[in-house]
Amino acid sequence: MLLARIFAMIEQQSEQKKEELFNQFSNFCSRSSEDCTSLEDKLGSEFGQRLEHLRELMAACFPNATITRAWLTPTGFQWLFTMVAVNGQGVGTSVFSQWVENVSKQFDGNEEIDSQIDSIYEKLMNHSGCEFLNNEGSALYRLQSSCNHNCLPNAEIKFPYSNFVLNLVALKDINAGDEICISYMEEDLLERGRGTRSNYLRRNYYFTCTCDKCQSQLEDPESESETSMSVDSDEED
Ligand SMILES: [Zn+2]
Repeated sequence: MLLARIFAMIEQQSEQKKEELFNQFSNFCSRSSEDCTSLEDKLGSEFGQRLEHLRELMAACFPNATITRAWLTPTGFQWLFTMVAVNGQGVGTSVFSQWVENVSKQFDGNEEIDSQIDSIYEKLMNHSGCEFLNNEGSALYRLQSSCNHNCLPNAEIKFPYSNFVLNLVALKDINAGDEICISYMEEDLLERGRGTRSNYLRRNYYFTCTCDKCQSQLEDPESESETSMSVDSDEED
């Protein structure tokens, strides 16, 4: 749906605007063939066929495509798909997640409350069949997508107005010239060992983290539970 919207959004513009918008999308990071191979590993052997089918359908929907025709070739479509997969940001405006955040702040460290919240999330997930319960959609943000990951981030993403407006909020003092980094993983995963984090980042974002925290943990042995947790987290995605 997001792909169709991108095509339509560009094609409906005036000629001059089309190029401007097309270039904005083209500036997002994506390495089509490499990322696509990883997606195929993750989403199954039929992924390539399904993607090709989706490309054919999209081409049929936009027979008079002008500038976006470049994305209707097999390579161009792979680039577009992986660009959205890598850069798509969940829009965190779920009312329930805001309630959880407020309650967690008020009862910080209360195990009973934590386990009750986990249990509600589990029930919601079983009922909806969806893991991304805190998100109400996915969107592309030009500036936010240029923030690199760090396992000790100095900023975080917030949706304070309960809409699609994203805020990048500092978690500590940031000096002029310092890189602004966010975390690409949930907080609980961020607290796990280097191997687990590394595994998650490789499978989902196709890079190996070399942040200060990862460097300082290079010699740390991975425990049995870390190894099994890493497998679990991979399967969940
Ligand atoms: Zn790291």
